[in-house]
This record gives sequence, C-alpha cells and structure tokens, in this order.
Amino acid sequence: MAAEPSEFDVAVVGGGLVGVATAYGLAREGCRVVVLDEGDRAVRASRGNFALVWVQSKGLGLAPYAGWTIRSSEAWAGFSQLLKEETGLDVSFQRPGGFHLALSEKELEARANILRRLHNQPGVVEYKTEILDHSQVKKMLPDIGPEVVGASYCPLDGHVNSLRLFRTLHTALRQRGVTYLPSHRVEAIDKVGGEFRLTTTGREIRAGRVALAAGNANMRLAPMVGLDCPMKPERGQIVVTERLRPFLNYPVVTLRQTDEGTVMIGDSKEESTDPAGLTLGVSATEAERAVRQFPLLANVNVVRTWSAIRVMTQDGFPIYDQSESHPGAFTVCCHSGVTLAANHALTVAPMIARGALDPALVGAFSARRFHVQAAG
Ligand SMILES: Cc1cc2nc3c(=O)[nH]c(=O)nc-3n(C[C@H](O)[C@H](O)[C@H](O)COP(=O)(O)OP(=O)(O)OC[C@H]3O[C@@H](n4cnc5c(N)ncnc54)[C@H](O)[C@@H]3O)c2cc1C
Repeated sequence: MAAEPSEFDVAVVGGGLVGVATAYGLAREGCRVVVLDEGDRAVRASRGNFALVWVQSKGLGLAPYAGWTIRSSEAWAGFSQLLKEETGLDVSFQRPGGFHLALSEKELEARANILRRLHNQPGVVEYKTEILDHSQVKKMLPDIGPEVVGASYCPLDGHVNSLRLFRTLHTALRQRGVTYLPSHRVEAIDKVGGEFRLTTTGREIRAGRVALAAGNANMRLAPMVGLDCPMKPERGQIVVTERLRPFLNYPVVTLRQTDEGTVMIGDSKEESTDPAGLTLGVSATEAERAVRQFPLLANVNVVRTWSAIRVMTQDGFPIYDQSESHPGAFTVCCHSGVTLAANHALTVAPMIARGALDPALVGAFSARRFHVQAAG
C-alpha cells in the first residue's frame, strides 16, 4: 500500500521574523507550509529589536555579506508593497539613508577606518558611504548637539515598524492558508523514507522538507539533520521615550524616531543571555550618549525599556545551509532578520521550494566555514 503523502511540503521550525518571512515566501511558491513555534511566551528577538534595515558597515570580515545585505535593502520597498497589496497593512518602511554619529574626532577616525577596510576587501560590492563633518550632518539632522563632530552616512539605510511587520507577515500567512502551530516546540527530527517526522510538544508533523529558523535554538536542532549552527547569543537593551514632534527624518544606528513618534535608543551588547535582565548602567550610558547627540532628549520621559537576546552566530554572519546527510533539510539563521526579511521571503524561500540553495549562497554562508576556521 502506497505511503500516505506528507501532510506538508515544508515544515518551518521557528515563528520569529526569519521563520515567518521564509514561510511567506514558500507559500508564494505554492508550497503547503506549517510553521512550528513555542508560542508567544518564547524568548524571541523578533519582539525586541531596533527595526533598522541597515547596510553600512555590513560585511567587514565576510565580503559577500555586504552584497547580500544590499540585495535585501534594494528589495525591501517591493517587499513592503507586496505585503500591503495582500494584507492592506503598511509596515512603514522608509529608506532615507542612515547615520552613524561620532562624538569625538577619534570616534570619527575609527569609523572612517572601518569603512575603508570594508570597501577595500577583495570582491566586496561597491556602495556609497560618506564621512560628513558637523555642519554637513546638521543640514540633514538639524537637532544634533555641539558634541557631534561628524558621521558616516549611507543612502541605502532605512527602517521599518518591525512589530507591524511581524503582525503583517502572520496576517499574510493566514490569508495564504499556512498552518501556524504555536505551542509546538520541536523536540526531535527524523528522516523516515522520503519525509521528515518532527516530534513536537503538540502532535507529530510530517513534511517533505524542513527549514530550521529557530534563532539561537538552531544550535540544538541543526545536528538532528546533519547540520551545524554554532551560536553566540548576546543581549541588547533598548530605551523608548514618549512620543515627540517629528525631528529625526533619518535613522541613526543607535537612535531612531518611530512612525508613532517615540524615540528608540539602543546601542548595547552584553554577553548575558538572560532576556529578563536589564542593566541600569547600560540604559544610563545609552541615554547619556543619546542626549549628547540630541540635547532636546534631555528632559523627555522614558516610557519603556527592555532587553532582548540577539540571534548571533559565532562569527556574527548569517548561516544558510543545506544538509548532505538529510537532503531537504535547511538552515536559515542570522542576526539582522529585519534587514534580511526581503531576501528570506523573495530569494531564500524560492530556493528551498526548488529543493536546493544556490551554490553561491551556500558557498558564502554555509556553517562549513567554522570547520575550515577550526582546522586552520
Ligand atoms: C536588541 C536587538 C536589536 C536588534 N535590532 C535589529 C535591527 O535594527 N535590524 C535588524 O535587521 N535586526 C535586528 N535585530 C535582530 C532581529 O531581531 C532578528 O534577527 C529577527 O528578529 C529574527 O529573529 P529569528 O526569527 O531568527 O529569531 P527569534 O525572533 O528569536 O524567533 C525564533 C523562534 O523560534 C522558536 N523556537 C525556538 N526553538 C524552537 C523549537 N524547538 N521548536 C519550535 N520553535 C522553536 C521560538 O519560539 C521563537 O519564536 C535585533 C535583535 C535584538 C535582540
């Protein structure tokens, strides 16, 4: 008797921004998709991020990452338009360019040096960044303080309302008939015959393929399908102010005014992986720098602060991989899942739907790079 066909073409493990953007792309390709997640009580970077769609200084140390990020930045406007046409929801994507402000000549020199080294890497895609002095920055950011000596500026940078993006993607999944199963934590993955059997805290799921998009938990899940995903999570803290009159027409890498008028301030990296922890000293340093950059913030009210755990691979660069021992199993793992959402939906998902990642993507971002480094 012929075996029952698998219930789903692809099981996406992880319902954060990486998982839902990938699932959305797979549904657009006509796949029968299930998204398995732990539910809203889960530790989720997608709820705590800074919502930049950021290009400048991406790729120092892995040149292809610059091109990959630019590709997503270029695709973002079309991606947000697609979502709007489908759901009627506007994720407020804007790409006016972005700033990295310097509060001393030493900071500005260090910034220029990083960009020089990045652009001098062999094979890096050329893109425009500029070093501006105080008066040039002031023309575009009139409210900067006297301590801002200058900045780097890149026209490819932008931002979005990432919580609305998350909701919009879930809305699009529902409309496209994708099965979303929260409270279905995947405990084990086996390949039986030509299909994957996923043991979850809910029921068993059977699918032709599996895409691991479970953030830092990919480290535990990947070996189940013959893959590797070494992670080094880190904590970031964010401070949010009351709504203010529009004064910031460009995002700054550590400070942005949201489409709702609040100002988000975020600039920290801690080794801690405690998502409930919040270090006052860190928030104080973030606020102090923000006030030196924009003195008008000195007396505004803070309405919220939170910390969240970055999905950080061991070298900070994405991992896109496919299993040789378990064909049909893929890893989609990165920090900057807001920035790369357009790529995940419009480039990576069609590859998974076709059954194989492009050799160039695997060549640049496979976890095998860690083995080479380890062997080196
Ligand atoms: C402070 C901070 C600031 C950031 N700022 C930016 C920014 O400005 N721009 C940008 O592009 N990115 C930013 N990021 C990164 C961005 O938030 C993430 O890359 C993005 O949210 C994607 O996350 P993810 O889907 O990979 O993981 P998560 O959002 O963490 O989701 C992983 C999901 O997997 C599920 N899961 C885990 N284990 C299992 C299992 N066994 N079975 C089923 N499900 C499982 C979890 O329940 C969770 O829902 C920031 C992150 C942080 C923390």
